[in-house]
Amino acid sequence: MPVTERLYYSDSHLIEFEARVVNVTDRVSGWTALVLDRTAFYPTGGGQPSDTGTLNGVRVVECIDDGDNGVLHVVQGAAPPRDAIVKGRVDWSRRLDHMQQHTGQHILSQAFVTLFNAPTRSFRVMEASCEIDVELSNPSTDIIERAVELANNVIWEDRTITIRNVTSAEAAELPLRKEPARDGELRLIEIEGFDLTPCGGTHAYRTGEVGMIAVRSWERAKGLTRIEFVAGTRALADYRKANKSAREVAALFSTGRDDAPQLAAQMVEEHKELNRRIRALEEMAAEVEATKLLASAEGGIVAEVFDGRDAESLKKLAHALIAHPKTIALLGSRDRDTARLVFARSSDAAGDMSVLIREACAQLDGRGGGKPDMAQGGGKRVDLLDDAIRQVVTKCKERQ
Ligand SMILES: [Zn+2]
Repeated sequence: MPVTERLYYSDSHLIEFEARVVNVTDRVSGWTALVLDRTAFYPTGGGQPSDTGTLNGVRVVECIDDGDNGVLHVVQGAAPPRDAIVKGRVDWSRRLDHMQQHTGQHILSQAFVTLFNAPTRSFRVMEASCEIDVELSNPSTDIIERAVELANNVIWEDRTITIRNVTSAEAAELPLRKEPARDGELRLIEIEGFDLTPCGGTHAYRTGEVGMIAVRSWERAKGLTRIEFVAGTRALADYRKANKSAREVAALFSTGRDDAPQLAAQMVEEHKELNRRIRALEEMAAEVEATKLLASAEGGIVAEVFDGRDAESLKKLAHALIAHPKTIALLGSRDRDTARLVFARSSDAAGDMSVLIREACAQLDGRGGGKPDMAQGGGKRVDLLDDAIRQVVTKCKERQ
């Protein structure tokens, strides 16, 4: 005689029941676990999370399948004593949600078998969506959507779902979708004319109750295809979320939802083109600036300190400068709390810029390096930047 009569086996829609408390134990969490002589609460198992609800108004936060010891009802609050008669109430919206996901999984899994001979290896109900891992080696949008379409047709045909209890010998003669995980009497779930599989979960009465199935995404994972899907109320919740996102994006383009992807793609292309043009203009500007700076430079040495100019911009200017013969560019920038330096020389000018930059950066409490003709660096002592560059100018002039 089992410790707990599992009422959910015979009626997945039963949410109110009376039972007697047969055991009370304390949990390490500080909560209490009750075992009842009968229960409508489904415990975590088979990829389906447990029910929640109340026992005599006390919150049931989780139910755990303890095998032959029965179902543990973990309650948060004052637990009824042993032998007490309690009124149980299962949270219906959570049960309905789980039934829709779980029954939806039976249907979707069978759709992949029917169309592509691709069995499901595992199933998980997660917070907002579900996953199945399917032996499908060549997934594509078309293949996935064909299975989704078949699954939804089965849902909308509103087929009956029945429970059959059979012996393992009887089961061996039946076309089961998957091998039973245990021996002895088996509980089979039959979707009229479509699917027959052993399962201990809670299922809809008819396929119509699942509402609909939608696939959110899929990917290849560990040799299988992992498919993320939503069924029933989750499909509606997901549609609302997706619709909101799509409408928000569309509003940015002052267009309708369906036209937004094309406009977004167009904008990305324009953005790339603008960047190309900006880079070309920056180079032109650097050339003009270089010519101007060289006009007032003494002995081909351009020494300048700018405000708020980044390393990339300094380098562009340096390149434009050393395109002129016998030129040395000693450029600095006060970029917020950092001093930046770029030293460069044309191929026919003298001096090792990597040595000069190391010395200058050491003075600024920083570091620098590079090649003899082009080097860069920086330091924290922004206040010493002018001084450091002046000293390098002196060194360069001495060499000339
Ligand atoms: Zn099931």
